[in-house]
Amino acid sequence: MRPANAPAGAVRQGSLRELNLALVLGRIAAADRPPSRADLAAATGLTRATVSAVVEDLLAGRLVSEADPAPRAGAGRPARGLVLADQGPAGLGLEINVDYLAVCVVDLAGQVRHRTVHRADLRPVDPADALAHLVELAGRARADAARQGLTLAGAALAVPGLVDDAGLVRLAPNLGWRDVPVPALLAAHAPLTEHVPGVPALVVDNEANLAALGELHSGSPGPASFLHISGEVGIGAGIVLDGALFRGVRGFSGEIGHLPVHPQGRPCRCGGRGCLEQYAGQEAIVAAAGLAQAELPADTATVRLAELAEAGDTAVLRALGDAGTALGVAVAGVVNLLDLDTVVLGGGYAPLAPWLCPPVLAEIAARVLTAAWSPVTVRPSTLGAEAAAVGAAGSVVRRIVARPGGWLARCG
Ligand SMILES: [Zn+2]
Repeated sequence: MRPANAPAGAVRQGSLRELNLALVLGRIAAADRPPSRADLAAATGLTRATVSAVVEDLLAGRLVSEADPAPRAGAGRPARGLVLADQGPAGLGLEINVDYLAVCVVDLAGQVRHRTVHRADLRPVDPADALAHLVELAGRARADAARQGLTLAGAALAVPGLVDDAGLVRLAPNLGWRDVPVPALLAAHAPLTEHVPGVPALVVDNEANLAALGELHSGSPGPASFLHISGEVGIGAGIVLDGALFRGVRGFSGEIGHLPVHPQGRPCRCGGRGCLEQYAGQEAIVAAAGLAQAELPADTATVRLAELAEAGDTAVLRALGDAGTALGVAVAGVVNLLDLDTVVLGGGYAPLAPWLCPPVLAEIAARVLTAAWSPVTVRPSTLGAEAAAVGAAGSVVRRIVARPGGWLARCG
């Protein structure tokens, strides 16, 4: 907003500079190989002098650095390409799930520079205590980031539940959270990150949404539209359509875990019956495999299930087959509705994908009208089990790349 006493020309100058910074930085971020200043002038339509001035600002603000020059045949000094800086601002990603806490730091180029996963059953833990533990882990991540020359510029927190615009966790049924004011509880602690104008200190979002965004931006160009399913104790999905997350009217989309697969089936924590979670959630698989919780604690269940399946344990193989069939029924419904050709199995489903994919594909073949001539790919996530924390941190750095002016203003 323009201050009342500022001349209009100054505002236009400031806005133009902001736009040019974002334009050039965005080109550097999207380039296949480090572009030179001349490449950037050609790609953006800006003059070489403008590009040089913008690049100087980005170098001074530690947003980009000069790549080592590629050896070039013939005479002349090779032009130096520009890359996103590996020492500078970074994003802090946090996740609270039913059976673990995860913290990670992602740099501007999307590289994970710090990762901590603390396994614990968080259902009996008071939300304020769980958040206090997360703050402690975040403090260690911040110190580790500082040692690597990184400054945490903002944080995002993934939770397995419904989150409103103000960061209030309306309902996280598997954690037993209802109306938990996460930002207010975290405000009782020291700030997690530096203050950067234009970058929210903390964004709280649904873990399936953040994991889907992490997959979308995970490097190699993948499909612009896909369904990403996070299989934990609960099951959530992120729906990506044409390169953007589909959040629904109130931000509550993707509750695939509560699609009914047996309408008169088992009662669910949501109040409904026969929900997918009751047949393909982590606890349902463990129970179907005949493995008591005491024998197979929730915090190691996925890894153990994969080991037993690998070893040919018939009860585990049957349980995974049945879970995959239930998952396939729900997925086929989504594919019929949205006409998607890619389904990504993430979170705790990723290590179980070798056993879940075949029955999911069988249900798609049997139930999706277009499957015969338009095949659907079902594959594990490339981000591993902590996809939501990585996606959360990535959402912070993408915000800085899209609007670098706030970070540069902080640098003076
Ligand atoms: Zn349910």
